[in-house]
Amino acid sequence: MENRKKYLGEIKRIVVKIGSSSLTSRKGGLDIDNMKKFAGEVSIVAREGIEVIIVTSGAIAAGLKYLNISQKPEDITILQSAASVGQVELMRTYSNLFYGNHIKIGQVLLTHEDTTRRQQYLNIKNTIENLIKLNVIPIINENDSVATEEIKFGDNDRLAALVSTLIEADILIILSDIDGMYDKNPGTNSDARLISQVNNISEDIEEIAGGIGSTYGSGGMVTKIKAARVCSFSGIGMIIANSRQPDVLGKIINNENVGTFFVPQNIKKVRSVKKWIAFGARTRGSIVIDRGAEEAIVSRGKSILPVGVLEVSGKFNKGDTIKVFSVDSKLIAKGISSFSNEDIVKVKGKNEKQILTEFDSSMCREIIHRDSLVVFSS
Ligand code: GLU
Repeated sequence: MENRKKYLGEIKRIVVKIGSSSLTSRKGGLDIDNMKKFAGEVSIVAREGIEVIIVTSGAIAAGLKYLNISQKPEDITILQSAASVGQVELMRTYSNLFYGNHIKIGQVLLTHEDTTRRQQYLNIKNTIENLIKLNVIPIINENDSVATEEIKFGDNDRLAALVSTLIEADILIILSDIDGMYDKNPGTNSDARLISQVNNISEDIEEIAGGIGSTYGSGGMVTKIKAARVCSFSGIGMIIANSRQPDVLGKIINNENVGTFFVPQNIKKVRSVKKWIAFGARTRGSIVIDRGAEEAIVSRGKSILPVGVLEVSGKFNKGDTIKVFSVDSKLIAKGISSFSNEDIVKVKGKNEKQILTEFDSSMCREIIHRDSLVVFSS
């Protein structure tokens, strides 16, 4: 067994995401016993001086029960209404439970749209940091009552990974109705074995995850693996564990071998603006670059020059964030474009000399400067 402490060091700040399946009972409605267990464990950890941020699901599930709707509907307007009433139920319950533990809580509701403007993204960080300073545990959920498909995070695993990155948590703990990640679907394979540690999120891991769903939540294992990728890139460890396991949080904080631990890859500090480009900003279009340009950005930390660009798609302006693909369609980077899509069409594939013969010197610059470029593969 490899020691988790080696990767995590001293744990000072954690994000705990708890899923709908852990907050609701089989009959629907909130599972007060498990919420009580959760609030109790969080309170113990918080009293030990660890900063805790909660990302909670359960609003829609609680709201559907409140409105006597038994089947989860597809209709977004009903889901929005369910979230509106369910969020109140959820927070009322948290409030009572944490009050009993002498812990103060605050609510923060976010949509993906909130993170797409950098200033707003930083405001969210400040809000969370200020609550922590006041000894208040922030309880975060997606603002589902106003979120529409286009502006949604869609699942709270993603939201939790973004929050962890934003506030530079030491670890993201995802509490679910499953003990962790298995090598096969444990629901259908009696010999399925729990994977204790994932060193590298390979294609095999993604394939295994594709086959394992959770009963209630929106994402199953796939969204958890995506969250692990975000954390790993930002140098944050992630653990998936069962919310119903006794003292699960205490055990995790003591580096006991519970659940599945995803080792953080990027130990070097990723600059704040780059994390925003990678996970906060909305991408408007994309470019495909040739192998030479790929090697230059991946191995030598260079900017992307017009000469290395093969194709452009989407409609975007100078200053928008775009995706960068390799010739074999792999997403290798994201960055802020110094050109509109129309201007890239004019300069792509051309070297400095060619550009200067056709245009003035303002067109002779990097497509994406290295300071505004986040490279995923290394
Ligand atoms: N935000 C949703 C809710 O509170 C849950 C999303 C998810 O299950 O990931 O109901």
